[in-house]
Amino acid sequence: MHEFSTAVGIVNAVKRAASTHNATRVTAIRLQIGHLSMLNHDQLIFGIEIASKGTILEGAEISIDTLAIKAVCKKCGTAIVIEEHKSIYDILATLVCPKCDSKDVEIIQGRECVIKDIKAVVGSD
Ligand SMILES: [Zn+2]
Repeated sequence: MHEFSTAVGIVNAVKRAASTHNATRVTAIRLQIGHLSMLNHDQLIFGIEIASKGTILEGAEISIDTLAIKAVCKKCGTAIVIEEHKSIYDILATLVCPKCDSKDVEIIQGRECVIKDIKAVVGSD
């Protein structure tokens, strides 16, 4: 399961960040996930909950922002934002520049899986 290995990676990264800041408990985690990453958000949250059991992340509130797919035409420089409701396969199969019809289009956003914010308790309280 792609989501679970990603979840374990996120939990480990948050644990590292928390220990760097002497946090005793992590209360909230905000993620940014690109639409093209093909991660199922519910499964990802579930995976993080399982992977954080018994750690300082246990019980943290997890929220996910979806990043739209953005691309740029390498021929004419037109910026392209792709509607999220389309299936990823349709998007990739029909990705052409709306201005010059070039297929030389580079995806510049949408594959992300990043930890945007961490809320943590530092110290003993
Ligand atoms: Zn173009």
